[in-house]
This record gives sequence, structure tokens and C-alpha cells, in this order.
Amino acid sequence: MELKKEKLEALNKLLSATPKQIAVVSHVNPDGDAVGSGLAWTSLLNKLNHKARFFVPNAPPQFLESIDKNNELRSFKNRSEEYAEFISDCDIIFCLDFNNLDRIEELGEIVRSNPMATRVLIDHHCEPHPQFDLMFSHPESSSTAFLVYSIIEALGLSNLIDKTMAEQIYTGMMTDTGNFSYSNLTPELFRAVAKLLETGINIPLINSSIFNNYSEKRMRLLGHMLDQKMVIVEKHNAAYQTLTQEEMAEYEFKPGDNEGFVNYPLSIKHITMSAFFMQTLSCIKVSLRSQGDIDVNSFARKYFNGGGHKNAAGGKSFFSMERTVEIFLTALDEFFSDKNNE
Ligand code: 5GP
Ligand code: MN
Repeated sequence: MELKKEKLEALNKLLSATPKQIAVVSHVNPDGDAVGSGLAWTSLLNKLNHKARFFVPNAPPQFLESIDKNNELRSFKNRSEEYAEFISDCDIIFCLDFNNLDRIEELGEIVRSNPMATRVLIDHHCEPHPQFDLMFSHPESSSTAFLVYSIIEALGLSNLIDKTMAEQIYTGMMTDTGNFSYSNLTPELFRAVAKLLETGINIPLINSSIFNNYSEKRMRLLGHMLDQKMVIVEKHNAAYQTLTQEEMAEYEFKPGDNEGFVNYPLSIKHITMSAFFMQTLSCIKVSLRSQGDIDVNSFARKYFNGGGHKNAAGGKSFFSMERTVEIFLTALDEFFSDKNNE
């Protein structure tokens, strides 16, 4: 990965005087990459004698708890006032795995309004908002965890990566690449994995704690979705699924239970785009996945107030489920007719 020398120098300078009070923050509904990269980066900062804490807007799914060995993750919803005070007093705020302060809900305003903090972005989403003082924005990186690893290495601090940090970084790399099966898999990435493995991490065990840790109800919900709810839109080689609050209640839905659902239709031979619509109390959460040239980042930006990556993006709809599906179908017609006219 091409990291800019001036930026590394600026980061080095920022971290050279100790101790500094530092907040590391990551996005709402934190996934393996958000939690893994955030925990590892926070650990590194503490090893450098800073006073660093890691905050996320809401708690991650239970299956990610196993990588938080030192109980470092702070969910803002739990202790808002105390955490807001810490963040408001910070000298540096690192923003990991998101590209716009809108993605961290109420935390965004606290991060924005700190008058003295240097705000540093470390992220791999497309088109970051220019609201950061120092930016490590690398959409070519398959995960923020790999970017964090690359920065640590470039700073000459790899020797500080212990087994717990290696597990966290590996979890981020592994979850964001669909277990090393999506795009942007580079020789550098696998060299990094080899280095992490040298710390003694147990890959089968990490895999199992992430992928074999679901409830029976969640498996039955997956069955229900694929059998009863998956709709194929033949003319666009697309598929979509809708998950309602009633279904969530029936299957005792817990946060994270829908992890991976949106990917399944892509296993059908001709399907190249998949959408998942989940009803929440405030909106319909939209998840999009695609293969090859189909750019769901621009699709999510244009039709669902969202964004993400070329092959994995998300957004929101503030209409009913029925209307949201109508909007999606119309958007597909427009999107593919534009694409064909390119
Ligand atoms: P997921 O479908 O797993 O929630 O998200 C897939 C990707 O899209 C992630 O990289 C995530 O950051 C991005 N994403 C999901 N929801 C939103 C959203 O509401 N706004 C933006 N800008 N990005 C989103
Ligand atoms: Mn990520």
C-alpha cells in the first residue's frame, strides 16, 4: 500500500509527545473491521503511553465480543455523558472505518465540536468527507484493519503487535474480505497475514468464533428468508430480500443476525447484484452487494442516501417497505439503462 511519507511524518509528530488523551471512534452497527481495527489501534496507542479509549455509537453483535480481550470497547449508548466528556477533552481523535461524521450518530457532533483536537481519518471507504485534519483514505485497501496494520508497519512499530492485537487485525481483514474471497486481495495482504500468524493466532478458532456462533433461530430465519422472501429480478440479474419487524420478533432477532444474508443470492450463477431491506424503528436499512463492474456505492449514494464500496454499500430509506421496494425496482431500471448507454 502506498502510504504518503508526509502523512506518516505528520502522524509520527502527532504521537511523539506523550501522553496525549486520544479517542478512537468507529461507525454505528460496528462490524468485524470496525471493532478489530479500532481495538488494535487503541492498544497500540496505549502501548505508546497515550491515554486512548475506543468508542462506537452502539454495541457490536455478540459474536464479536470474543476479540475484545481487554474490555476496551465502549458503547456510547451506555454511558453517554462520561464518554462525551472524555472525547471533548481529547487532543487527538482517530476516526476508523467510516468516511463521514454522520456515520457515528450523536458521537459525530461531539467529535466535530471539540475545538482543540486533531481529527485523523483512517479509512477505506470511497469519497471521504473533507472534514478531517489528516487523512489516510485508502479505498484500495480491502479493510481498515489492513490499513491499520500497514500504518503500524510503516511507523516501524510492528514489534508492538501482540497476539491479541493480531487477532483483532486478522478479524477485520477476514470479515471485510468475506474470508479472503472478495476483491483487492494483494500479496501484501497475505504477507501481513503471515506476520500476524507468527504471533501465534489460531485462525480456525477465530473463524469458528465468528462464523459458527449463531443461534438456532438465526439459522431458521436465514432458511425462511431464502425460501420465502428472496425475490429474483430476472431482467437485471438482481435479487432482493425484505425483513420486517414482525419476522424479527418471530425469529427472536438479535443485532448481527442478518450478517451475511445479503450475500447469499450472489451464489446463484447469474445473479450479480443483491439487496437486503431491513425494517428498523427509524427507517429501512438498505444493504447492497454486487459482483464485478456493478457499482453499488454510486447506487447507494444516488437512491438511498448512503455509500460504501464498489461491491458492498448501504443506505437508508424513510418510506414504507412496499414503497422502498418500488423505489429500488425503478432505480434498477434507471441504473441499468444508464449503464447500457455508457
Ligand atoms: P452493510 O450492508 O454491511 O451494512 O454495509 C456495507 C458497506 O456499506 C459498509 O462499508 C458500510 O460502511 C457502508 N454503509 C452501510 N450503510 C451505510 C449508510 O447508511 N451510509 C453510508 N455512507 N455507508 C453505509
Ligand atoms: Mn471496513
